[in-house]
Amino acid sequence: MELFQLSRANDVRDAVAACAASQTAQQGAHVRFLAGGTTLLDLMKLDVERPARVVDISRLPLDRVQTTDDGGIRIGAMVRNADLAMHPLVHEPYAVLSQALLAGASAQLRNMATTGGNLLQRTRCVYFRDTAMPCNKRVPGSGCSAITGFNRTMAILGTSDACIATNPSDMNVALTALGATIEVEGAKGARSIPIDDFYLLPGNTPDRETVLEPGDLVTHVTLPPIPGSRSLYLKLRDRASYEFALASAAVVVNVTDGRITRAHVALGGVGTKPWHATEAEAELAGAVPDAASFARAADAALSRAKPQSQNGFKIELARRCLIHALTQVTQSV
Ligand SMILES: Cc1cc2nc3c(=O)[nH]c(=O)nc-3n(C[C@H](O)[C@H](O)[C@H](O)COP(=O)(O)OP(=O)(O)OC[C@H]3O[C@@H](n4cnc5c(N)ncnc54)[C@H](O)[C@@H]3O)c2cc1C
Repeated sequence: MELFQLSRANDVRDAVAACAASQTAQQGAHVRFLAGGTTLLDLMKLDVERPARVVDISRLPLDRVQTTDDGGIRIGAMVRNADLAMHPLVHEPYAVLSQALLAGASAQLRNMATTGGNLLQRTRCVYFRDTAMPCNKRVPGSGCSAITGFNRTMAILGTSDACIATNPSDMNVALTALGATIEVEGAKGARSIPIDDFYLLPGNTPDRETVLEPGDLVTHVTLPPIPGSRSLYLKLRDRASYEFALASAAVVVNVTDGRITRAHVALGGVGTKPWHATEAEAELAGAVPDAASFARAADAALSRAKPQSQNGFKIELARRCLIHALTQVTQSV
């Protein structure tokens, strides 16, 4: 592990200023915020992340979940995953989010992990985490070991010739189906970013995963109201707990008079970013909620899938995962 400077921020302005100051003083020095530390410290020990400065944001007053004027909710970036899952404004009203959080990691990790940290957790690609191996995400231009190597768990949607690593988060899949907005504070002030625009496809620059600029601090995540809807998160993995998704589906559906009036669908475990399945949504809009329309939606969601040598099974797995999620969420409507 490299030597680094550690400081603690007491408020948001402090945190952003600490980052900006380091970057100016040390000519663009690599600075990282420390929230729960469950991703960052692992990667620092592995020498994958080598920040010159770490700014501890764990004491920032961003630990509340509140209602918004339009009936949605606003989640502070420091709200712990376990607290968010069980919060009364989330547990039933946004069941898909609660279920996704509870499907992630372990109880101990969920007690430490934060909303902001989960949004920005890094891929679990074994080559990204192994500094002895080429990886374009870690060292741009060095090559992608996964394309010709062990790629069973890698992405089938949104891949490029430079990177096929999967976004590992469960929470982000639910936030995508819910149409979340990410609130950010940076050197240039505050801005709000719809989650669909927040994550970048790898293309030729897989090292750049989001639209965040160096030193940008995520302060909140806001969710719109979802009146009259039912929602569900289904995660399929190699073992029943403490394992990342091979395929997952987050669905938010409204059914009125026997027709689907609104369907929001996202897939996890299969995309290089949390995958907004807009083709599936188009198939479901106005459809009767039955096996035929669910199969059409699942086919559409996976129509652009590109399997690697070992992960072709993910196409059928993700298809069935989405069909099952849609079947379950619309049962007894
Ligand atoms: C063994 C294990 C199993 C896991 N299993 C799962 C799983 O099944 N599903 C799943 O979804 N996740 C899983 N995780 C990942 C876990 O959810 C993340 O590690 C956690 O959510 C990260 O949150 P954190 O607060 O600890 O982030 P940190 O480690 O503190 O930070 C992570 C990154 O986010 C940045 N960051 C943090 N907060 C902010 C902010 N407010 N603004 C800007 N940047 C910020 C940090 O600088 C860092 O780069 C697992 C992790 C482990 C170790």
